[in-house]
Parts: sequence; structure tokens; C-alpha cells
Amino acid sequence: MIVGAGGVGGVVAHKCAMNSNVFTDIVLASRTLSKCEAIARDIREMHGVEIAVAAVDADNVPELSALIRELKPAMVINVALPYQDLHIMDACLETGVHYLDTANYEPVDEAKFEYSWQWAYQDRFRDSGLMALLGCGFDPGVTGIFTAYAAKHHFDEIQYLDIVDCNAGDHGKAFATNFNPEINIREITQNGRYWESGKWVEIPPMSIHKPIAYPNIGERESYVLYHEELESLVKNFPTLKRARFWMTFGEAYINHLQVLQNVGMTSIEPIEYQGMQIVPLQFLKAVLPAPDQLSEGYKGETSIGCQVRGLKDGKDRTYYVYNNCSHADCHEEVRAQAVSYTTGVPAMIGAMLMLQGTWMQPGVYNVEEFDPDPFMAELNRHGLPWHEQIDVPLPHDDYAL
Ligand code: NDP
Repeated sequence: MIVGAGGVGGVVAHKCAMNSNVFTDIVLASRTLSKCEAIARDIREMHGVEIAVAAVDADNVPELSALIRELKPAMVINVALPYQDLHIMDACLETGVHYLDTANYEPVDEAKFEYSWQWAYQDRFRDSGLMALLGCGFDPGVTGIFTAYAAKHHFDEIQYLDIVDCNAGDHGKAFATNFNPEINIREITQNGRYWESGKWVEIPPMSIHKPIAYPNIGERESYVLYHEELESLVKNFPTLKRARFWMTFGEAYINHLQVLQNVGMTSIEPIEYQGMQIVPLQFLKAVLPAPDQLSEGYKGETSIGCQVRGLKDGKDRTYYVYNNCSHADCHEEVRAQAVSYTTGVPAMIGAMLMLQGTWMQPGVYNVEEFDPDPFMAELNRHGLPWHEQIDVPLPHDDYAL
């Protein structure tokens, strides 16, 4: 059962349908039934596969549990919004099904995300013989798997990690976000944070930046943000002396964002408007293009990877592993843009490995806690081929801590 029929949910549904030997019965459930039906129609036309659809409010645990009991899925792939994570995990525990998501829990009324809320489910999932796989998109997701793969095959000790995320695409719109606008804007207007010498260093939003050269794209201005996978990676790879996350933003994007912030449109504090309470950021989301409406005519590509420095056989080593993904190719294959695609494909692969028993262990886990090799092999098979460069110069010359 896939919950959430947005940009990412559409990709997961298409990719599961394209692998119907594993995903024999698929249901796409979301708040708005017509969105599920539109995706089901495309899947029928493009891949000749029938999927079921259902309307559900995933914040209503009894309603979601009743739907799960009726349809008896083996697992739930949660690609709704981070606000729903705990409710969907509760419904999975109540009904005895496995769980996977692509973003960690975030309370609606506070722009703050961390794993503690979901890690607290560890005993309940383990004792019920159920598995919850957290953060199985691209970042978080593949970036954790890339890091685990680097640590397993190329290093005796990984010391410096820079996750570099570039979207060099052009959707032709003045301003739009590539995943849910509300979640995206909450993420990038927060203070930045990175890990250095055993503690978090907090910085004003977007205050550290530099040009980084991306394969097949060239240099793009890249900004240090706090991103959720840093929290689990520094825990699971304690040899890391520093871990940072960089994301590219164009000048026009930043200008729009600054204006929106300056006029109060990114606030999550409710205001009184014509006799009702509205949240400015939620209203802004309603007027911006939705992520699943961007793919037609979207040009260019994304490039996301991990740049690692550490020790191998007593010597310094650098390692860069990345994937580039073309927006137009994604539209052609599953009617989506590359940001939805690079999230949805890993979610499908994680679910596949769980259902096949390759990655199946009761409890709550982040992706880097499993053997990365089968996942890396599936990425090459399902549309996200990766490339590696060993002992190449990396753009970060500030290694002396
Ligand atoms: P969208 O806004 O396009 O889609 C979200 C979908 O969830 C919508 O269809 C929405 O329904 C549905 N939904 C919201 N609330 C509920 C609810 N209470 N019950 C049922 N359905 C609900 O977002 P995206 O597809 O871009 O993002 C989906 C998720 O993927 C987000 O959590 C995002 O953070 C995550 N993500 C992760 C990435 C990664 O690399 N790890 C990258 C990109 C995204 P409706 O249409 O009715 O509003």
C-alpha cells in the first residue's frame, strides 16, 4: 500500500507496477481520490497494469487501520508528508504490517525534524516482529547507502563526508519547489547545521556557500543546509570528523525566497484572515505549482552524490560516488520530474528488498545499517545508475580541523 499520491507517490506507484513480479497487488491511497485515479489511469495506459485506489486521511489512525485491515497489504510505503509518519507507524503496529518512508517526522506546528520520535518506536516494532525502514528516498536514502558502500569497499576509516545535491534543471516557472513546497521551504529557511569534531555547529540559513563543480553540469553555487541523514550518519559512522550537506540554489530562487520571507509568507504562525485562521506558508503552498505538475518540458538534470575523504591502508583516500538523472527521461518513463523520481525509485527498491527478505529485520532502521551491495545493484537496474571516482581532488580543501 502506497500512501500519498503526490509527485513521489506517483513514481513509487509506476515503479512498483513496472515490477509486478514482486509487487503483485498495489493500492495507492491518499487524501484526494482523484489524484490516485489519475495516476492509476497513466499506469494502465503506460504499463498495462491495474492498481487499486482508495481515499484515506492518514492522520486518522482508526480510518487508516481499517483500510489496512480490509486490504491486508504486506507493507505500507509512506510518501505522504512528514507530519503523517507517526500516525502511519501507529496504524502499521496496530495492523501488523511493515513500514517504509522517505522523510523523518516533523510536527505541523514546529519547523523541526529529527529522528528521535521515530527511533522511539524501536522496541514496539521489534517486539511485534515488524520492520520500519526510515528515510529511503535519495537524500535521505541513497546518500546513506552511498556512504555505507564507501565505508565497506573503499576505506578503513571514513573521516570527512560532504553530501552534494545539485538540481541544474529548468522547469520554466518563475518559482516552484521540486518537492512539497511547505516541507521544502520549512527546511531551507531553518538555521544550517553540520557536524564537526563531535558536535553540531549551527549557522544562519544559507550563510556558508561556494561553487562546486558537478559532473556533466559544471560549477553551481552550493549552500550548507541541515539535512536529516546527517543525524543518523554521524551516529552510525562515529569515525566521521565532519559531515556536511550542500544544495544548489539559483539566484532567482533565492531572491523569490527572500521576498516571500520578508513579507511573512513563509511563516507557520496562523493569522486571522476574513474571520478564519490561515497559515501563510500553507496558503503559499496552495498558490505554487505542485511538484507533480512540473515535469512536462522540464530540462536539465540533477546530480546527487557523496564526497568522502578518509584512510585506506594507512594512506589518505578520496572517493566520490554520484548519480545524474535527467528530468526529461523521468517524464518520458513515469510522467515525473527527477526530484520525485530520484526519491520514488529508492523507496520502491527498499520495499522490494524488504519483501524479498534481503533487508528484513524486525525493528526501526536507517538505510545505512544494512548491506549496501544489493541496493547498489538494484539502483543500476531501475533507472538510477551510479558512478564512482577514486582519489580525485575534491572541492573541499579545509580538512585540517
Ligand atoms: P506532494 O505534496 O506532491 O505529495 C504529498 C501527497 O501526500 C499529496 O498527494 C497529499 O494529498 C498526500 N497527503 C498529505 N496529507 C495526507 C493525509 N493526511 N492523508 C493522506 N494523504 C495525505 O509531495 P512530494 O510527493 O513531493 O513528497 C512526498 C514525501 O517525500 C514528503 O514527505 C517529502 O518530504 C518526501 N521527499 C523525500 C525526498 C528524499 O530524497 N528523501 C525528496 C523529496 C521528497 P493531497 O493531494 O490531497 O494534498
